[in-house]
Amino acid sequence: MSREQLVVERARRAFQTGMSKPLKFRVHQLKNLHRFITERRKDIADAVKKDLNKTEHSTELFETLGLEGEIDVAVERLAEWAAPRPVEKSLLTILDEVYIQPEPLGVVLIIGAWNYPWAVTLQPLVAAIAAGNAAVVKPSEVSSHSAKVMEELLPLYLDKELYPVVCGGVSETQELLRQRFDHIFYTGNSTVGKLVMEAAARHLTPVTLELGGKSPCYIDKDVDLRVACRRITWGKFVNCGQTCIAPDYILCEPSIQNRVVEEIRKCITEFYTDDPKTFEDYGRIINQRHFQRVMSLLEGSTVAIGGDSDQSQCYIAPTVLKDVTGGSKVMQEEIFGPLLPIVTVSGVDEAIQFINEREKPLALYVFSPDNKVKTIETSSGALVANDCLVHFTVSALPFGGVGNSGMGRYHSQHGFDQLSHLRACLIKKLNLEDANAMRYPPHTAKKLGW
Ligand code: NAD
Repeated sequence: MSREQLVVERARRAFQTGMSKPLKFRVHQLKNLHRFITERRKDIADAVKKDLNKTEHSTELFETLGLEGEIDVAVERLAEWAAPRPVEKSLLTILDEVYIQPEPLGVVLIIGAWNYPWAVTLQPLVAAIAAGNAAVVKPSEVSSHSAKVMEELLPLYLDKELYPVVCGGVSETQELLRQRFDHIFYTGNSTVGKLVMEAAARHLTPVTLELGGKSPCYIDKDVDLRVACRRITWGKFVNCGQTCIAPDYILCEPSIQNRVVEEIRKCITEFYTDDPKTFEDYGRIINQRHFQRVMSLLEGSTVAIGGDSDQSQCYIAPTVLKDVTGGSKVMQEEIFGPLLPIVTVSGVDEAIQFINEREKPLALYVFSPDNKVKTIETSSGALVANDCLVHFTVSALPFGGVGNSGMGRYHSQHGFDQLSHLRACLIKKLNLEDANAMRYPPHTAKKLGW
């Protein structure tokens, strides 16, 4: 029996005891998870510094604050989420109790990605615990320092049988995927997403796939470019562009392209100084493989800002590319690095066409002074007007993709519902049998009154 098989069996046995179900137990575990984040803040920050060169404050802002917020909401609202939800009744069931009862699914597999190693791995865990499940947590091996801290320290706070952490790479993950789960929650790229779904299909296991893609950013020519470019520069270059909802590329009319470049140039200098390489709050590409991948995307493009790099440090400067065409290399895959191509279009109609000709993105950003931009004619996981990334922080909004950017959703009650079975319940009394006469055969016209 493999280690992975053993861990999953143990989690299933623990789940079957029923211990994860009482709300009091769930709240206790959630509070322990909160305590883990508070008490081990330094260990977490040190690990992320080693993995992605993020400062302690960035880690707090982009990883742990949101996690703590999710836990607080879950603790506060759990009783309400888990309660029976009465529904409208039909004439036939008017005297019955009819309601939806959320119930735990069983054992959930959570496979995390490396770019925000804590947020994307533990946020699904919050939902799994809240919904009363057991969960096997598989952090990304790529953010190895974070994975190690998670493996060593999380079991000191959470129930070890119900919520084990399993570290490892592709072969360990594949071995996990051979086991039977009741739900698989995967965050990562679409190619592996398909493998996860294939493995899940063998057991008819439902999946949530939090994937990526090229999130477009349309800038209307009448918008305040200074404000728009500040927000875009922030959203793009934070975490060195390794954010699933980062604006991947800009669409704008040719008449404003140079002004957009100049405004972004000012913001890069303001945020990261004239020398981002030596600035402590500018990140690094996670590893050599991704460094080479991102650098190769520069091929054939015109660099307007940045473009310099240092392979020994996995450093790539904040880079803007101009006059990029839809057919160029950088437009063929999600960039996931600090390159920001500008593609010019004749106006909003061409922008919509450009977006609709491609895979449905995880986010769509539109900078426009009014509502004239016809965003409704596109589809994306999320739509944000006049800002970037911030929708991630609104717990009440479902977070997830559509089409190639993923399936399913989480955050707050959306995560709770995603990892619950919403059981349809109808409770009838044994009396008033006469009221049922009509449904029993023979169905004569006389009996039906027709
Ligand atoms: P990754 O390399 O860490 O892979 C993700 C997970 O898949 C890891 O745990 C890894 O062990 C596992 N894995 C990798 N190859 C596998 C295989 N062949 N079989 C089974 N398991 C395998 O992360 P990544 O894919 O480079 O992450 C970046 C991608 O994730 C981007 O596309 C990004 O947009 C997306 N992402 C999406 C979200 C979201 O919430 N939608 C969040 C973060 C990242």
